[in-house]
Amino acid sequence: MSKQILHIGIDDTDSPKGMCTTFLAYKIINRLKKENVDFLDFPNLVRFNPNIPWKTRGNGAVGFKISTNNPKKIKNLVKQYVQQYSDVKNGANPGLVFCQDGKIPEEFSKLSSDAMWRLIHRNEAKKILSKHNLDFFYLGNGQGLIGATSIIGYNFDDQTYELLSYRKPSQFGKKRSLEKYKVKQMQEKTYPNTFNSFDSQKNKLLLMPHGPDPVFFGIRGENSRTLISASKMIKPKEKLDGYLIFKSNQGTGDHLKNKINVDTFLPYTSGVLNGIVNSKPIVTKGGHVFFTIVAQKKKIRCAVYKPTKITNIAKELIVGDKIKVGGGIRKATRTLPRILNLEFIHILKLEKKSKSVNPLCLKCKKRMKSKGKNQGFQCVRCKNTSFQKEIQTIPRLIKKQLYIPDVSAHRHLTKPIQRMNQKHKTEKFNPNSEWISNF
Ligand SMILES: [Zn+2]
Repeated sequence: MSKQILHIGIDDTDSPKGMCTTFLAYKIINRLKKENVDFLDFPNLVRFNPNIPWKTRGNGAVGFKISTNNPKKIKNLVKQYVQQYSDVKNGANPGLVFCQDGKIPEEFSKLSSDAMWRLIHRNEAKKILSKHNLDFFYLGNGQGLIGATSIIGYNFDDQTYELLSYRKPSQFGKKRSLEKYKVKQMQEKTYPNTFNSFDSQKNKLLLMPHGPDPVFFGIRGENSRTLISASKMIKPKEKLDGYLIFKSNQGTGDHLKNKINVDTFLPYTSGVLNGIVNSKPIVTKGGHVFFTIVAQKKKIRCAVYKPTKITNIAKELIVGDKIKVGGGIRKATRTLPRILNLEFIHILKLEKKSKSVNPLCLKCKKRMKSKGKNQGFQCVRCKNTSFQKEIQTIPRLIKKQLYIPDVSAHRHLTKPIQRMNQKHKTEKFNPNSEWISNF
């Protein structure tokens, strides 16, 4: 029997209390290796709109593409794994989708690009799946069907890779330990082909989660070869189970490609907007910054939160500055209206900042004193007078450039500065390379 191509999409198997969809993928792939299956690409890890309320950590789905001569058997196997390992009792709503044809329905791509920036109801996914009579499976309310369908329809136009290493089950929930200097050295040696492993300013590890999930560390970068050698430089003391390399849209700014619709300004949508600063930024006690811009004649409230550190930039904005911003719309609360939470500020044009001061006495090089309202000014020394105040230019402390958050405040999709304005090649998948390893 000839082999058939099978796309598999999985989402929402995890909960904040444990497990992880990428670990499930690792388990499934290890199992499938015992079957007569060809792997046709790196497993995919795609992060969708991060600005929706009920995302499981990161809103990430996993998918893989294989060829098999027994799709029925493979489907059943994968289904068993999803059933067995999903953390349903802690709130996971797993979805599993199979697409057997080489041709993926057009609606999959549409759903996928929509899922990147807006809120999607699970019925939208269910409708598409039923219409095409596809095999799918879900538990709970089936929220995971959105990601599971979307990842199959996802088209990469930029990509990064992540090597995720996994702990042995006996270690789950225990404290992780890594030597900082090794990670620091690794980053220095491999930058810019790896990124966001270490925050040198804060002397802080970024590649290690803290929760109970099976991931020990994750190294992100531009190609699998660098990731493999980087992982060997870290050498943790703990004996790990193995690793798996994913192809991902992390670090690509994928959710900030579309323009925000200022008329609907719908909560939980993400995107970008050009506008003109319309109010003096207000710095709250907690250090957050709020201001408004006018975009397409609409007033838009913007918020910048302290951990991003771009509050330092936001507070220097003045009325008239032309900026491009991107982020997600937060829903209104009892006391606050809808607001755009900023994930970057790109300053396009800076307004001149000036203040008026009392005129200078050219003879004495001293500022004159006001003689009273509408009475003009006079030098106290030589009695010289003048009626005109002087306009003084104040230097701006910010520049016409792009500002993104501090590396410690990066989200999965945040595009690191060194990845801007660069074309990144996709890597040809070699099934015989070390894209998966069991120690
Ligand atoms: Zn004078």
